[in-house]
Amino acid sequence: MIDIASPLRLRLDSAALVHNWRWLAQVGGAEAGAAIKADGYGLGARDVMRILAAAGCSYFFVATWAEAAALMPLPPGVSLSVLHGVGDEDMIAARSLPARPVLNSVEQVARWRASGEGRRCDVMVDTGMNRLGLRVEEALGGALDGLAIETLLSHLASADEDSALNARQLAAFRAVREAVPARRYSLSNSAGVCLGADYGFDLTRPGIALYGGVPRREAAGHIRQVAFPEARILQVRGVPSGETVGYGATWTAPRDSRIAVANLGYADGYLRCHAGSGGATWQGRALPLVGRVSMDLTAFDATGVDGLREGDWLTLDYNLAPAAARSGLSQYELLTGLGARFERIWD
Ligand SMILES: *Cc1c(COP(=O)(O)O)cnc(C)c1O
Repeated sequence: MIDIASPLRLRLDSAALVHNWRWLAQVGGAEAGAAIKADGYGLGARDVMRILAAAGCSYFFVATWAEAAALMPLPPGVSLSVLHGVGDEDMIAARSLPARPVLNSVEQVARWRASGEGRRCDVMVDTGMNRLGLRVEEALGGALDGLAIETLLSHLASADEDSALNARQLAAFRAVREAVPARRYSLSNSAGVCLGADYGFDLTRPGIALYGGVPRREAAGHIRQVAFPEARILQVRGVPSGETVGYGATWTAPRDSRIAVANLGYADGYLRCHAGSGGATWQGRALPLVGRVSMDLTAFDATGVDGLREGDWLTLDYNLAPAAARSGLSQYELLTGLGARFERIWD
């Protein structure tokens, strides 16, 4: 097979990933697991699991059975939970894979019981988000009686804000914990970890903060950037003052300019909303994005950046918190949107 170098790469810092996981374990007041759904938020779930398992992480969460199947075989000693639970069509996968369903409704509990599957399961109780999970009344009213529950979960709706809902969900979760036996209890995502050890219980489930997202101000300065998208320059061209660049001619050169055209576009998840505020760096020099983002091409202003040439790699400005503030995308969208044309390279 011919080895074809990709002109797009996502450099991934495994030391930063482990650093972030350790920080979350330390401040969360509980053992820290890892949410690795959506292919590890776009970074590569298999590699994230391998690196974090080697660092001591034991509990991993994916959304679907297809995601679970793609992670087989699991590293030794690792527990994998499937957040979407079991529909009828999932029972074969749920019986054959070494992963636990997170049962989300009275119907799913009944399906699991009817299957006669003796293994332990996880259960999600909804304490106020109204997304997935049994209602608190159902959990307290006996719907879970006799079920062998490994981890009992709930999920915070507004942990990234100073919302009164956080304390209400905490109180509801404590009431469920009093009434429903389980091996361990787990409430917090990344933002919940930052709310303090009260929210920690036995196990936390950070996702975005592992991957460099800053979920709340308490995490600022502690979380390190993990993902660094880089794009190759296809061409450097002179653009005379007064001429325009790209579709719609939205950018006019204010002076004689040098424009670097990079092999990157919205088909790679580098969306059009980066126009006007996005940028890149090369050897520490800033290159602002100019004009629109095309499907496979984006132009950057390299005027005065001496030495830059075709074939050089630009590093996109992709530190998640500021990039989210600039672009209007969430930190989650910035990561999970990065496309398949990026070659994922862990150092
Ligand atoms: C995605 C998810 C998490 C992780 O959330 P982050 O905000 O990325 O930390 C934790 N728990 C559940 C149930 C989730 O769906």
